[in-house]
Amino acid sequence: MNRSAYDRILLKVSGEVLAGDQSFGIEPQFLHSMADQIAEVAKAGVQIAIVIGAGNIFRGMAVAASGANRVTGDVMGMLGTVINSLALGDAIEQKGLRVKVYSNVPMPTVADTFTARDANQALNDGSVVICAGGTGSPFFTTDTAASLKAIELHCDVLLKGTKVDGVYSADPKTNPDAKRFETITHEEVISRDLRVMDTAAFALARDNGLPILVYALDDPEGLMGVLSGKTRSTRVG
Ligand code: UDP
Repeated sequence: MNRSAYDRILLKVSGEVLAGDQSFGIEPQFLHSMADQIAEVAKAGVQIAIVIGAGNIFRGMAVAASGANRVTGDVMGMLGTVINSLALGDAIEQKGLRVKVYSNVPMPTVADTFTARDANQALNDGSVVICAGGTGSPFFTTDTAASLKAIELHCDVLLKGTKVDGVYSADPKTNPDAKRFETITHEEVISRDLRVMDTAAFALARDNGLPILVYALDDPEGLMGVLSGKTRSTRVG
């Protein structure tokens, strides 16, 4: 039987994962595949907090590039994470689990406002916790929000799924000489500018001793494979 090496995890889900083959929106097939993987891990007794991006809906930087106000664009991006969080929360509930969606952008009729105290309690009570709204501030990303929430919620590890099975010295899809790291320090990821997540996310993780597992999203063993050590991943930290 698969067993997780971790008791409490923070899973970062990028918006693009929910879009699947499409560039925009939410594809039910991919939404439910992610929810199935989360449910398998939760049913094995792992406490799960989730931070979702909004690349499938809106990115503030993309708007700013066409001359619009960056702060407004970022707020729109944060609202996009709320849409994704509600969709994933509902899909996880359909798998028979309890879910609490918290928002870092206060919107009381939609979700409870995030506090670490309430979210911690919900995790202890066995709910899957989804933290919507990123950090609640513009000029950040949901990768940074993922580091922040993982630290606030005392998670053992942050899981970051990517297109490849770990951290490489260069893009392995375009550079055949790219070397894969089994383990690497936060400092080295930052100094080599390896860009698996943004620098703020890694710096926060480094300063607070938060390990990060980078794994391939398309691995057939899914999340449980990563947590049980069956699937290849790079451990940062
Ligand atoms: N965003 C923000 N502050 C945050 C997190 C996100 O302003 O703390 C905005 C920002 O515009 C960002 C968008 O929300 O581009 C979507 O988040 P992200 O790009 O991290 O999504 P992902 O790439 O993970 O899908």
